[in-house]
Amino acid sequence: MPEIKELLQRNRQWAKDQTDRDPEFFARLTKQQKPEYLWIGCSDSRVPANEIVGMAPGELFVHRNIANMVHHTDFNCLSVMQFAVEVLRVKHIIVCGHYGCGGVRAALSHDEFGFVDNWLRTIKEVYIKYQGELDELGEEAQVRRLCELNVIEQAVNLAKTKCVQRAWDNGQELKIHGWIYDIADGIIHDLGVDMHCRDTVPGIFHMKGKRIPR
Ligand SMILES: [Zn+2]
Repeated sequence: MPEIKELLQRNRQWAKDQTDRDPEFFARLTKQQKPEYLWIGCSDSRVPANEIVGMAPGELFVHRNIANMVHHTDFNCLSVMQFAVEVLRVKHIIVCGHYGCGGVRAALSHDEFGFVDNWLRTIKEVYIKYQGELDELGEEAQVRRLCELNVIEQAVNLAKTKCVQRAWDNGQELKIHGWIYDIADGIIHDLGVDMHCRDTVPGIFHMKGKRIPR
């Protein structure tokens, strides 16, 4: 592992390499960002968003948290999403989990890890929802499958939000995708989540616009 001051040296070298390759690189970036993709991924250090999809700075708007969760009480995630959809007008939201996710593994266990247990609690509910399928599997296969199911459920959580439904109602082009990254070989697999309109969300979550209670 490098010493902390070496990180700053590496940064100088990186900035120099960028400028050597493309003298206008930073001048262009300072003007505006216009990414078409919002990435919601895990904080895991082995899953660096831009790098694994070959995206340069300016091309990917990124939100990461432990186990790539979309909680409806998380102002951080909701703010990122709203800004991405309404201001940047991204065309795609990608929820990308990864196999071997420590957050998913922790949620499947009975161990206590502290405050983070609250954050991961809803993964236990994903487990309960698919318990029939998951209990048929061996231990490792169960973690793998729950990593996939968690991605799918978080993608659905995105589609349940007013922000996403409003965008669809306004005719905005916006697709939600669910992907999973394999740390073992660097390959991303598409889980077949393709939510692009209100009809892809269960009816009970459909919003009809604001009504003032009397
Ligand atoms: Zn993870």
